[in-house]
Amino acid sequence: MNEKIMNGRELSSLILNDLKEKVNKLDRNLTLVVISVGDNPASKVYVKQKEKKALEIGYSFTNLHYDEISEEELISEIKSLNADPNVVGMIVQLPLPSYLDKNKILNTISPLKDVDGLTNTNFLRLIKKEECLEPCTPKGVITLLDYYKVPYTKLKVVIVGRSELVGLPLFHMLLNRNATVTLCHSKTMNLKSYTKEADLLIVAVGKPNLITKDMIKEGAILVDVGINRIDNKLCGDIEASCLLKASLMTPVPGGVGPMTVVSLMENVYRAYELGKDNYGKNTESN
Ligand code: NAD
Repeated sequence: MNEKIMNGRELSSLILNDLKEKVNKLDRNLTLVVISVGDNPASKVYVKQKEKKALEIGYSFTNLHYDEISEEELISEIKSLNADPNVVGMIVQLPLPSYLDKNKILNTISPLKDVDGLTNTNFLRLIKKEECLEPCTPKGVITLLDYYKVPYTKLKVVIVGRSELVGLPLFHMLLNRNATVTLCHSKTMNLKSYTKEADLLIVAVGKPNLITKDMIKEGAILVDVGINRIDNKLCGDIEASCLLKASLMTPVPGGVGPMTVVSLMENVYRAYELGKDNYGKNTESN
């Protein structure tokens, strides 16, 4: 069965080692800042994971945590981080409490420091195939597919989920790499009629076992982005028994999750390269 697994944990540690070497050769510190607001328990775990990987690579890491902060104060904090030459990349950990305007806040981040790839500028540049910082989960999925030599240009690709974080940018990234992609979502009628046709099925919904064995094609390649918690155990959106019918599949945990974190770490290095010419200058937001 093991040869059917796309092992994100293993690949991410290879990438991490390469990054570590590159970062060790630098004559300056690269600082990643994560801003978090509120007390979302999952966010705390994610921030800790990012800190651990960042320190492992040799980046400096700062978590600016606020139990509560006004929108004005948060925006002014982001602007001062935009102007701080020591800060290479910054993230606003999502979800934000509902009293804060997520889009306004994210778009205050300088696109050159937007290592989550979530500003409007980076999204537009991504669609237009221009140099940009790509969102981490879609980037991680593509790195994994490339590593396992999945020939997506020759396959019928179906993505389920159209969020701004995962499904939508992934759709554009695969399209830009000449794949032919169908994007399904919560209003898609008869989901099974699409998933059953997919040679490569990527699911990013957040509903445990949404995709069952009868919904997939024999020999399909399955990428499960979903992270769900049932009775304190993690599971994806694709029923585990689908592995029997698939030719390749990502596990949950150990598939897309570690690829997302390592893609963020790659983006920090990329942000350093993009910002090198601006080092010491104020990098404006979009
Ligand atoms: P989201 O809630 O923003 O979007 C969910 C998408 O699923 C929407 O586009 C919606 O239209 C679609 N959807 C909902 N119900 C559906 C249904 N019954 N049939 C078809 N489509 C349906 O979620 P998100 O932020 O994109 O995250 C999706 C999942 O991926 C979550 O489980 C999240 O935890 C996980 N996630 C994992 C990683 C990772 O690193 N592995 C990163 C980001 C998100």
